[in-house]
Amino acid sequence: MTATPSTLFSLAQAPADLPVLVVGAGIMGAGIAQVAAQAGHPVMLFDVRDGAANQARDQLAATFDTLVAKQKLTAEAAAQTLARIQVVITLDSAARAHLVLEAIVEKLEAKRSLFQQLETVVSADCVLATNTSSISVTAIANGLHHPQRLVGMHFFNPVPLMKLVEVVSGLQTAPTVADGIAELSRAWGKTPVHARSTPGFIVNRIARPYYAETLALLQEQAASPSVLDACLRSVGFRMGPCELMDLIGHDTNFSVTSSVYEANFFDKRFVPSLVQAELVDGGLLGRKTGRGFYVYAPGAEKPGTVPDAPALTGLPPFSTLAVACTGPVADALHQRLAAKVPELGRLPDAGWVGLQVDAAQLRLTDGRTATELGSASAIDTAVFDWPTLTGPIEVLAWAPSARASDAWQAQAPLWLQALGFNPQRLADASGLVVARTLSMLVNEAADAVQQGVCSPAGADAAMKLGVNYPAGPFDWLARWGAPAVVQVLAALDATYRGERYRTSPWLQQRAALV
Ligand code: NAD
Repeated sequence: MTATPSTLFSLAQAPADLPVLVVGAGIMGAGIAQVAAQAGHPVMLFDVRDGAANQARDQLAATFDTLVAKQKLTAEAAAQTLARIQVVITLDSAARAHLVLEAIVEKLEAKRSLFQQLETVVSADCVLATNTSSISVTAIANGLHHPQRLVGMHFFNPVPLMKLVEVVSGLQTAPTVADGIAELSRAWGKTPVHARSTPGFIVNRIARPYYAETLALLQEQAASPSVLDACLRSVGFRMGPCELMDLIGHDTNFSVTSSVYEANFFDKRFVPSLVQAELVDGGLLGRKTGRGFYVYAPGAEKPGTVPDAPALTGLPPFSTLAVACTGPVADALHQRLAAKVPELGRLPDAGWVGLQVDAAQLRLTDGRTATELGSASAIDTAVFDWPTLTGPIEVLAWAPSARASDAWQAQAPLWLQALGFNPQRLADASGLVVARTLSMLVNEAADAVQQGVCSPAGADAAMKLGVNYPAGPFDWLARWGAPAVVQVLAALDATYRGERYRTSPWLQQRAALV
């Protein structure tokens, strides 16, 4: 028998007629069955564990009842959709399927042997898809007679709600099979993004620094989880890294980080954190155990809460005041202060962005610490984080130089308040919170693009749809510019040394072009 699966999905005129077999009826399998049935497919559901597939179907029936009660689905559509989902008790049913979607246990050997077994049953043009979140699609295909028909179709949890599907191609996946799966994902109401099978694919790879930089700052005692979460929420992330890790579970998050680290041959870029390892060792796994970074108990403080800044009674004393440099951030600072200070000056050629108060400097971070900047000029210095300048009152990290006078340490946050921020003092850490985290997210995305894992547009879509980021890494790159991002990374690299903060060659090239 010669399989020619590569023509099937690219030519499918009416994909909703095709029978789909979902193998594994756990969280993901049940969600995939729901989405496929809602798109009109006859769905067969199989699980190796007795009763598991029936249980999943019963749960889907209950889900449909709820959707009907909320008037999100008509009773008729619910009944029709449920009728399309059929529990099967043997893999022989795969003979009727045009697509088999695997969502079983995350173990290479289990997946390999399942697909090898399926190959003896399925029709010649049946496409095989795996929902693996971390295993190489190339490795799963090893041993198949027709590895070109195996593709990754990586859904996100909860499947009915999350729009992203990473369509993952292994070394032998036929491009037409990947394109067909992308087309099918669209027909199921999802947004497909093509990815090459590399550790973490797109989302689980590019998201690593979101957790890693906060964990590094915690290890350095730079700030509390609440402050770090509040700073990142302020730029639009729905959850800060600490509350998000608590939600995901530290065991799961640590194991994804560890698997990406190992799969990259222990590249220090991805090294796991001692801070998180200790939480895992101590069984403080987050929400599911009642405690992680935060305590989850009735009456406990909401994660990521920081107090409002006290009301400003007036501006701190000054003789001269000027906004340094030009550009969007400097312009916004000028606009915010000009109404309050008619004599506000401008220093367009300062070479740094921020506020000059007499001799003291309040500078937008370029990655260097306030102490480094203050040592060079021997003046009172403080740095502040990258703002979005869009929200009403933005929580913003700042840090004074170790040499700053007591008066400047007291005054710098008052100026930030006058500029409309809720300032949160950090230890004088390179790149503070937002600049450091966003730069590293951009850096990882740039490497992924250079290595052919995905396109810039694919990376942006994946991060916005797969993990609800407020913007994609290349949106941030456009906003801050490659030179600023490269400058922050260079400062981090100079501070910490080692491989972790090495700048992506793709990004260096972009910076050189500016
Ligand atoms: P789960 O534990 O909820 O469900 C797995 C199901 O597969 C179980 O019901 C189990 O009985 C069944 N199973 C195990 N071996 C089998 C076999 N050989 N044949 C048939 N059934 C078998 O797991 P899950 O969270 O649904 O994850 C399933 C897959 O999806 C994994 O590869 C996982 O990495 C991936 N994934 C999970 C998530 C998530 O957030 N949970 C997100 C994306 C991808």
